[in-house]
Amino acid sequence: MAQTHGGATPQPLDQQRGQTLDSSLDLDQPFDAPTEWDGNDWDGKRRSPASNKLLQDYMNPPTPWARMLKGFIVVLVVAGIAHELFAGYYDRKMTAAIREVSGQTEIEVHCRRVWDEVLDFRVKPGFVWFGSGVANLQLNVCRDAAAWSGDPENEDKRIAIQVLTHELAHLAGHYDESQTECVAMWTLPKTADALGGTREDGLAVASWYAANYNPLLPPEYNAPGCLDGSPPSSPLLP
Ligand SMILES: [Zn+2]
Repeated sequence: MAQTHGGATPQPLDQQRGQTLDSSLDLDQPFDAPTEWDGNDWDGKRRSPASNKLLQDYMNPPTPWARMLKGFIVVLVVAGIAHELFAGYYDRKMTAAIREVSGQTEIEVHCRRVWDEVLDFRVKPGFVWFGSGVANLQLNVCRDAAAWSGDPENEDKRIAIQVLTHELAHLAGHYDESQTECVAMWTLPKTADALGGTREDGLAVASWYAANYNPLLPPEYNAPGCLDGSPPSSPLLP
């Protein structure tokens, strides 16, 4: 335990200081460290405000907003990518169907994303901008139309393939809503075929729709007796 200072002859500590050291003091253990945290500093004094704050943060951590925000953004991005993949699949499926029915290759279907709804809220199941080659459909309409052939009597799915065909009739140049409904009903067997169903099932959908659903729509959409006569003139029909 004796130390050398400069060139001085080393002396026992007690002689250097002229006093007798407490022989029980272990100099390797400079203070009597408490084995349990007693809430005070090592010297038994109350802690400073700064160390109080540290202990409080440790015992009761502050809400990690920055980390939560990062986690939230990661979840949003992953959900957005999944939503885009899901909707993109229906875009392609619906677009292939209307191209097959019409023989046109420049037209397409856009199934509306969640962000489309946020930026431009429309309750209509489908719409076409005047002069545009894109039919916009609610995503659930795309989903129902895609699933129709597996469940041909389901009313939501029947309405969905009529909505798809109605928007296609707009793309084919029909703007009067009543005429557009009538053209769509006549075209339904072709849509049914393009979506993997049968023309007979498509005819059944058209008859059901004309009798049960079209009359419930606002008057400008009504097409009474449409299926009784001969087909309307349309590029979609022979
Ligand atoms: Zn319309």
